[in-house]
Formats: sequence, structure tokens, C-alpha cells
Amino acid sequence: MLFPIRCFSCGAPIGHLWDRYREGVNSGRKPGEVLDELGVKRYCCRRMFLTHVEYIDELLEFYQQRVQQLRKAGEG
Ligand SMILES: [Zn+2]
Repeated sequence: MLFPIRCFSCGAPIGHLWDRYREGVNSGRKPGEVLDELGVKRYCCRRMFLTHVEYIDELLEFYQQRVQQLRKAGEG
């Protein structure tokens, strides 16, 4: 859902690096290169970036639909 603030294994703070990682990868660079540049060296921290799936935007769509349904039901 949201990118974790800390690595699950070692507890290192990594949340502040997510935006820069995503920008680097979206611009076509290799994820490993971007992580090296950001100074993420431990493999436990690297897997946090490599395996993260961001789906908060898709989830919010359902939430907004549900809110609209509840508002319509309240009006009727
Ligand atoms: Zn770690």
C-alpha cells in the first residue's frame, strides 16, 4: 500500500528515499543503479524497494465510490 518508513528487517529509515527511487526507475534507469546511488546497500533494505507494489491510488478509487454510494443512500 504505502511504502514503509523503515526496513522491516534492520529498521533503517528508508521511506524518505521512495520518491527519488521511483523517479529514477520511471526515467528508465535500472533499479539496482538507483539504489546504489541512493546509498541503499543492505539487501534487506533493497528488497523493500524492489518488491514494493503501490496500489493506494486504486484502493482510493473504491473508497470514493463507496462514499458516493453512502451519500446517495443518505439522501434517498
Ligand atoms: Zn534493512
